[in-house]
Amino acid sequence: MEAGAVMFPRKQTKQIMVGDVPIGGGAPISVQSMTITKTADVDGTLQQIYSLAGAGADIVRCTCNEPEAAEGLARIVPRSPVPIVADIHHQYLRALEALEAGVHCLRLNPGNIRKPEHIKAVAQEAKNRGVPIRIGVNGGSLDPELYRKYGGRVTPEAMVESALQEIAYFHEVDFDLIKISVKASNVPLMIEAYRQLSEVTDYPLHLGVTEAGPPPAGIVKATAGIATLLAEGIGDTIRYSLTSDPVDEARMGRVLLESFGLRERKNVDLIACPSCGRAEIDVYAVAQEAQDAFADRELPLQVAVMGCVVNGPGEARDADLGIAAGNKRGHLFIKGTNVAVVPEDEMVSTLVEWAEFITEHGTDAALERAKSTRDAARKAADEDRRRNLRELGEDANASEQVVELMRKNR
Ligand code: SF4
Repeated sequence: MEAGAVMFPRKQTKQIMVGDVPIGGGAPISVQSMTITKTADVDGTLQQIYSLAGAGADIVRCTCNEPEAAEGLARIVPRSPVPIVADIHHQYLRALEALEAGVHCLRLNPGNIRKPEHIKAVAQEAKNRGVPIRIGVNGGSLDPELYRKYGGRVTPEAMVESALQEIAYFHEVDFDLIKISVKASNVPLMIEAYRQLSEVTDYPLHLGVTEAGPPPAGIVKATAGIATLLAEGIGDTIRYSLTSDPVDEARMGRVLLESFGLRERKNVDLIACPSCGRAEIDVYAVAQEAQDAFADRELPLQVAVMGCVVNGPGEARDADLGIAAGNKRGHLFIKGTNVAVVPEDEMVSTLVEWAEFITEHGTDAALERAKSTRDAARKAADEDRRRNLRELGEDANASEQVVELMRKNR
């Protein structure tokens, strides 16, 4: 764990297994995403499932909206690298077919499969096969009766009641391999619904803000809802619902969990300074270049891109590795120690090379590797630091001059 890391106590829930992925009961919080292909297109769907798994999805959901989709699932499940959930709306027969196809979990929307005998038939078959079901309540497709009961509005209470009604049907056939979601596109509504649900059930909860929309606003909305609940210890598995390439959903899910310290870091956590008048490079461009270079590499490190050597190495001293711009050159540092100087156009490739070395051999070995260049690197960094201060002064952003001018103009 990182220095100073704080753990959020998590609410204890029952544990279910979705394939080989445990959910609830203290298991690592899992990331889910959903394919946007036609499930009947087996190769296209599998390709997307592999991309999602590569981006950090632990579980993938596919729609099962027609008999051809159910047949597709029978072909997809044995070749999928991660467990598959079948998404069922309206037709309970698709749920029975998906179970026959061997899916690892079902998602039922209680708002649109409402006949008790249908719900119980699916739960009975899932029970026979030992397959869990997510009760996926959705604010936008609430049972019309509940909608009326709560005054023609979607309320947290109505969403929780919908979930509890479905649980009651499941219990009638003695089925308890359950996880639940109460998603809404309205963030405060979603947060309150999950809070209330968490008070009345111990089943694991699947978090999400439904129809969050395209990035960046969609990411902010989804994060606002999911992160608030995670910080309260609520939630066992998550999904970002973005109007975007589903690979982004999987990535965002991972990033959120890693930033909370709830999952081991898998990819680079890139940090960068916001740039200012002291910067010696275009920080945004170099940070973007670094982001692209690290995108698909599994290097579980924190890497910093800093605009100047005056404050960069110090401010990013906790990063595993970083580079700060100097006078047309980059100062490479490992845990705040200057180790090498490279030409400006090699800053990103140098970061990648050393990140790979550190991941394979560790920080001590990297510092040892740089033993012969460390002294020269420190001197060069001091030189550039002094030069920057000499040329730009202590107040590189000229804030004091601006304040002076403002006073004069009053
Ligand atoms: S002082 Fe240096 S490290 Fe800090 S924001 Fe400015 S350029 Fe970046």
